[in-house]
Amino acid sequence: MGKTVQTTPFRSRYRIGFGNDLHRLAEGRKLILGGVTIPFEKGPVGHSDGDALAHAVCDAMLGAAALGDIGQHFPNSSPQWHNASSLLFLVHARELLDQAGYGIVNVDSTIGLERPKLAPYIPRMREKLAGALGIQQTQISVKAKTGEGVDAVGEGAAVRADAIVLIESWTLNKPPRSLRRGQIRSV
Ligand SMILES: [Zn+2]
Repeated sequence: MGKTVQTTPFRSRYRIGFGNDLHRLAEGRKLILGGVTIPFEKGPVGHSDGDALAHAVCDAMLGAAALGDIGQHFPNSSPQWHNASSLLFLVHARELLDQAGYGIVNVDSTIGLERPKLAPYIPRMREKLAGALGIQQTQISVKAKTGEGVDAVGEGAAVRADAIVLIESWTLNKPPRSLRRGQIRSV
């Protein structure tokens, strides 16, 4: 029924992925971001260490390769990941990208946190994340901003992180010679 659509066999060597994460902050929890422990009276509530930055980067990596999401690969119900360092999620996500034939071009990210100021910790976060991902620190950017006193971040009730990742196929180092005629399918 309906229209005939021609599918173009387009394959790019580049793919992009986006991830975000939010954790509620509670007293008596360690604040860990990008694998770095930051002295503060509150920290994220979560099954693992609640590292919102690592989780956002992980989801962006999985998203770039259309490999599902963090909940699927690291389920809350699994004792294996209980209180696990989220850097291990990144190591595993990197392995999944390797298996799928992709390398990371670069990562950009932003943390939303009202307090404390994160600037002093950012170089160490980049070092830790780059180490877990097996990339250079120049390939990873971490930025931080407050919530301007509004929403859950601004009220100090939550930490949020957004990340975007560009990956490149190892097997498609050249663009296709020509765009071939695609298959016809009906939708
Ligand atoms: Zn998370």
